Amino acid sequence: MTTKADELAPRRLLRRLRDVMASSGKAQQKLDSVVTLIAADMVAEVCSTYLCRAGEVLELFASKGLKPTAIHHTRLRLGEGLVGHIAATAKPLNLADAQTHPDFAYRPETGEEIYHSLLGVPILHGGRVVGVLLVQNRSRRLYSEVDLELLQTIAMVLAELAASGDLVPRDELFPVEGNVVLPLRLEGTPLNPGLAMGSAVLHQPRIELRDLVAEDPEKERARFEEALDKFHSALDELLTAADIVIGSEHREILETYRMFAQDRGWLGRINEAIGSGLTAEAAVQKVQEETRVRMESITDQVIREKLHDLDDLAHRLIQHLTGQENTAATADLPDDVVLIARNMGPAELLDYDSQKLRALVLEEGSPTSHVAVVARTLDIPVLARVKGVLEKVDPLEPVIVDCDNAQLFVRPSEDVQQTFAESMRVLAARQARYAETRHLPAVTADGVSVSLNMNAGLLVDLKDIEARGADGIGLYRTEILFMVRPRFPNVEEQTELYRSILDQAGDRPVTFRTLDIGGDKRLPYFLADSDIEENPAMGWRALRIALDRPQLLRQQARALLHAAAGRRLRVMFPMVAEVAEYMAARKLLEMEVSRARRRGEKLPDKIEIGAMLEVPALFWQLPTLLKHVDFLSVGSNDLFQFFFASDRGNPRLSGRYDVLSPASLSFLHALVRQCDARNVPVGLCGEMAGQPLDAMVLLGLGFRILSMPPPAIGPVKAMVLSLRLAELAGYLETLGDLPDHSLRDKFRAYAMDHEVAI
Ligand code: PEP
Ligand code: MG
Repeated sequence: MTTKADELAPRRLLRRLRDVMASSGKAQQKLDSVVTLIAADMVAEVCSTYLCRAGEVLELFASKGLKPTAIHHTRLRLGEGLVGHIAATAKPLNLADAQTHPDFAYRPETGEEIYHSLLGVPILHGGRVVGVLLVQNRSRRLYSEVDLELLQTIAMVLAELAASGDLVPRDELFPVEGNVVLPLRLEGTPLNPGLAMGSAVLHQPRIELRDLVAEDPEKERARFEEALDKFHSALDELLTAADIVIGSEHREILETYRMFAQDRGWLGRINEAIGSGLTAEAAVQKVQEETRVRMESITDQVIREKLHDLDDLAHRLIQHLTGQENTAATADLPDDVVLIARNMGPAELLDYDSQKLRALVLEEGSPTSHVAVVARTLDIPVLARVKGVLEKVDPLEPVIVDCDNAQLFVRPSEDVQQTFAESMRVLAARQARYAETRHLPAVTADGVSVSLNMNAGLLVDLKDIEARGADGIGLYRTEILFMVRPRFPNVEEQTELYRSILDQAGDRPVTFRTLDIGGDKRLPYFLADSDIEENPAMGWRALRIALDRPQLLRQQARALLHAAAGRRLRVMFPMVAEVAEYMAARKLLEMEVSRARRRGEKLPDKIEIGAMLEVPALFWQLPTLLKHVDFLSVGSNDLFQFFFASDRGNPRLSGRYDVLSPASLSFLHALVRQCDARNVPVGLCGEMAGQPLDAMVLLGLGFRILSMPPPAIGPVKAMVLSLRLAELAGYLETLGDLPDHSLRDKFRAYAMDHEVAI
């Protein structure tokens, strides 16, 4: 329990310290004045500051009481002597007789042998020890709790000065081995392939505290209470929102936040820090720094995660208290942003100017996290699970993200930079060559026209139609809109988005795929944890959800009809397993058409309804299905995972089966033959359509409509322009019933021999 008198003395000292800090002197002069002030105020015969330097060394930077000649001469290794002990453990020491401590190291140049008692605390910044502050006295005394608290508070104020770069050069302050600035190579898990170089941008910028010392603790407490109250009400609002499912992961995170925001120990420590004269934000920071240090030594994953949550909470409170609530998205950004975050929501990623985004690096993240799905549609490389990246990278440092080799280079050396720059130049030159062909129609060397379309899922993708020379959008994944929102978009919101997509596409056709949620695309506001399935890819997803919750599909159909009024509307249903399902979905759409007609609403000029072929069973009902569809689109990603019973997201299985195998090719060939016989257009919109070699084979099998990720259009068009299709079809006939695992090598050899650009 602290008394009024206990509170007053520290505040007086802090005020004086603040005046010294705000003065115009050099950093070293300020530090000299600070130790003198502390010594006088705490009635200590010695007050010294050691700062960490390159090579894990602590150097005496300022002292009142020790011999002046020792300043900048006395150095101790991390772990050496009591100062080294405090720095290594990041914990305070309070000793009545320091010389009897086993770690005591006698340094004759300092003249400290006459001092017995010692109180020392680490100076922490960004979860790291940047120095040590200590007081000493001749008499054998134990310092009080109040003294300890005061010294810790002063250390907090000093931390800003120590980390400012004015005392120890900034390049010695980086948290790398030996405290020197070495290039680092960190490993991660790629969630989207690719290569990028750029400048590091921290999604949550480190907050610079301008005001550390406050005049009136009552006022600071009130500020803190107010911030906490606001935080509580925001949490309560979120928690009671009808669309957060009980037991969902989302809810669990919010509950954890609330638990910490009510934690007495945590609140008590913040209150104490405010009492000692810190501003509310500095008090939260002080407690947060201590928590971070604790985090370092905890190996239990669950506790670590909880402490991480606490760290997040503190960060949010500081943001709130300092009014610096923005993420880096609103800052002035470099042109080559490599965004670094612990984790982030998909909507937060979309706040960034996509023209400037080069890559995303996450400390956490998983392949199914929505931010990864969105990053994929933006076509930027994503490297996840990069341990400790937030602490190891400073803003605007050069970084290279190499997802193809699962690595991140921080401050890469000149030769590493040159090697990667060369690879990127080659890639860029190739893209430039593709750009030159964007106005050419995709016609093979022997005169067969092919329709090359792009897959999209966000409005930003649409800029690519023109730039890449796509004929249309062959697959618009509507679920992405649902994933970047905190709740279901209503009919008006959906209408607006679909309308702007059609506006931007102009005369080019857009094929909207109805909601494909479930499976790996879980919406936190829709599916609860209890809905987690053992086998989600084959679970309650896509059309199955739409048929069980017809309102969802009807609302989407309504929005699509509104958006396409007076224009062409193409809609397709995902994951159709049998004709009856397709018919049921089509009926729901037709009910909406009738409703619109009854209400006298303007309808689309033309409505085409199709199905995705992703479930092999549908193949065996083709004669019936083809009577009822306007077109078919093969979703080869899902189709072949079911065809080979091989999870499309499992890295251990990727490459095990090849889509260019005799089995898959004979399946696709039979499919095209049946569609052609009944004059039903059939396209393919899975990833294989974007691989030039695979696309070549698809054309040989008879496909004339392909849809792919936007960057693939250039390379595939180059292949089309160089292909003599009749010859290829003849070659395919010769392959007959081969027993091979894959025909890929044969096709590659064919392409080489026939100068097809693959
Ligand atoms: C597919 O399965 O091939 C497809 C295009 O759909 P998605 O990748 O969105 O599941
Ligand atoms: Mg699919």
